[in-house]
Amino acid sequence: MPHQLEIVTTVAEMQERARAWRRAGLAIGAVPTMGALHEGHLSLVRRARAENDRVVVTIFVNPLQFGPNEDYNRYPRDLDGDAALVASTGADVIFAPPVNEMYPEPPLTSVDVAGISEGLCGASRPGHFRGVATVVSKLLHITLPDRAYFGQKDAQQLAVIRRMVRDLNFPVAVIGCPVVREADGLAMSSRNRYLGPAERQAATVLSRALRHAAGLVAGGVRDADQLRSAMREMTAAEPLARLDYADVVDAETIQPLTQLSPGRPALLALAVRIGTTRLIDNLEVLP
Ligand code: AMP
Repeated sequence: MPHQLEIVTTVAEMQERARAWRRAGLAIGAVPTMGALHEGHLSLVRRARAENDRVVVTIFVNPLQFGPNEDYNRYPRDLDGDAALVASTGADVIFAPPVNEMYPEPPLTSVDVAGISEGLCGASRPGHFRGVATVVSKLLHITLPDRAYFGQKDAQQLAVIRRMVRDLNFPVAVIGCPVVREADGLAMSSRNRYLGPAERQAATVLSRALRHAAGLVAGGVRDADQLRSAMREMTAAEPLARLDYADVVDAETIQPLTQLSPGRPALLALAVRIGTTRLIDNLEVLP
């Protein structure tokens, strides 16, 4: 039998399949996404494929995690293109529910991971990580995975989900996967397709500033403010870029650091607006 990718759109059918797989003793890997898939997403799907008997890719643009002035309506949606890419990985199911299937009524329940959610992207996107944690909880209960795969690209999101899973005893292993980049260093993102040619060129400022700061760390700099200033200055030198934040935080707690400590992973993190597009990137450093 050739492998056949199936698209499931209802919660009941997805849960029934996942339960049947589990009853049969099959290990399930889940890869939650918002679609408009690229090589970054596919690296997670391939890893899930290698480590599990069944793989579910979820595709859902979650309205709960977008602020009122954000890009929910223009966020790229391309289920046919996504399905062709997912089929090439050998995944088993795409779970792509319509909004009213995930939220038949406004949810009265939400998941808040206090302390990790307020800094970095949480500061300019209030409520964002509540929306993320809530939808990921739902998706984990719907797809019942043994392992769930998330990209280090969204390092704060990964920290939020790790902590949620630990605090609430979700029976799932959270697997963090490395950032996949374009040849010039730009982290792959569904939002990169918003960029015009000059903006696409300017967008390399994020990875350049991060690499520059990582170089300072490698050269012995331990003062977090010096790293913040270095990233800020490099971003300021790019005329099309407007800085949202340049920060240095603990990789697990996402709390701002004053000094890097030996043996303790730190995150160099940037959010930059290029025109109307907000891009984020980060590098983990271990002094
Ligand atoms: P998104 O569709 O943007 O919500 O992303 C879905 C998942 O793919 C998240 O866990 C992201 O961190 C991950 N992801 C997105 N871009 C990349 C990338 N360039 N490299 C690795 N993982 C990524």
